[in-house]
Amino acid sequence: KPLATSMVEDAMKKIEVLYDGRKAKVALDIVIVGCGLGGLAAAFCLGQAGHKITVLESAPAIGEVGAGIQTTPNLTRLLIRWGLDAVLKEITVEPEALAFHRWSTGERVAYTRWGDRMERDHGSPYYHIHRADLHKILFDLATPYMDLRLNSRVIAVDPTIPTVTLMSGEVIKTDLIVGADGIKSLVREVVVGGPDKPVPTGDAAYRAIISTESMLKDPLLKPLVDTPEMCGWMGPDKHVMAYNIRGKKEYNIVMIHPDDGSVESWSAEGSADTMRSYFVGWEPRVTKLLGFVKTALQWKLMDRAPLDTWVHPEGKIVLLGDACHPMLPYRAQGSAMAIEDGAVIGNLFSRLTDRSQVPALLQAYQSLRYPRASATQSSARLNQKIFHYHDGPEQEARDTSMKAAMLAELG
Ligand code: FAD
Repeated sequence: KPLATSMVEDAMKKIEVLYDGRKAKVALDIVIVGCGLGGLAAAFCLGQAGHKITVLESAPAIGEVGAGIQTTPNLTRLLIRWGLDAVLKEITVEPEALAFHRWSTGERVAYTRWGDRMERDHGSPYYHIHRADLHKILFDLATPYMDLRLNSRVIAVDPTIPTVTLMSGEVIKTDLIVGADGIKSLVREVVVGGPDKPVPTGDAAYRAIISTESMLKDPLLKPLVDTPEMCGWMGPDKHVMAYNIRGKKEYNIVMIHPDDGSVESWSAEGSADTMRSYFVGWEPRVTKLLGFVKTALQWKLMDRAPLDTWVHPEGKIVLLGDACHPMLPYRAQGSAMAIEDGAVIGNLFSRLTDRSQVPALLQAYQSLRYPRASATQSSARLNQKIFHYHDGPEQEARDTSMKAAMLAELG
């Protein structure tokens, strides 16, 4: 059988199996561009597999934005395999349920019990975590395996040798380049062979974290902290998702609305008053919560159609995470997919016995990851439609079917 085929088949059988500690017979020099969640997962997994890892990060310091993140069982399964069970329990909140409400009245239209059930049904818990905390635990995990170079913006990539050129003019020669440089990826443009931008989705998000202290003093909001749920409110062209993080001391709120010309950035601050103006007339819990917000970070939400390939034809550059499959956050899977990519590429490259196998292993990685990540991108787009129905027949049909499932659930 061709090498790539047999490696894919072999990997397909093993990919759900805990990485077995195997080390590659040949150690590659690997440059990872980007020290985000995906880059760190790849640094840990490829480093653990015996390769020499350099991570190049444009930012002058390591730090993450103040926002919460949902870690679904497919992601916690990996983190737990990597020995992070105890620390996760310490720094996360485990939601008891998922509840969706009608925007104007607050009527509950959907309810699914989570808690222990996640572990029973999906083999691993569902947690809410602060992004900075998730980044920190992955950073600590990867540190023994990587040489991290901050202030190192990559401005050019030569796919043939391959090399990367930094803003300082320094040229770094390597065996393999992993583009983990996020939604505005430069490495992606080299892989696809020309300018290639993500596309605006028409939506933008405000994100804010408030202290739960004031919530606990308000009888209407107290239950949101006492019984931690993944809480959603769906309305015309908008929705709000909210949940507890950091031992229920903080409450994370994501407010999705039609894009009004916001910038794609991890750190742009929007006006809290403008944010509130989008949600006038929403039920009292939402308006009260938003009333506590002092500063909100603002994101233009971008995604893109699946790329034709994640691997450069020369077989020495590969993409992962948002660099190749940016998606709307409506299935809470962007980081999960990026971290899964890192796990799969590390597992595959632990099997390297000869340098000539690199292109085949990259193809194997793409074959394993592409269908799953692309399907997730598309389903996140579908949720954009479902969450944002205007009041009318489609919204009524959605709510009726959700309520039927809720009644079956609650008995
Ligand atoms: P990034 O995290 O963007 O990291 C890229 C890194 O590369 C950055 O550190 C950047 O500085 C660096 N870089 C970029 N260019 C260069 C260069 N030229 N040279 C050197 N370094 C460079 N996902 C979930 O799983 N669950 C959620 O609940 C969730 N909620 C979300 C809510 C919102 C509102 C948004 C916008 C996203 C959400 N996501 C969620 C998605 C998730 O945040 C992303 O998918 C994830 O961060 C992608 O990780 P990454 O490592 O691919 O890219």
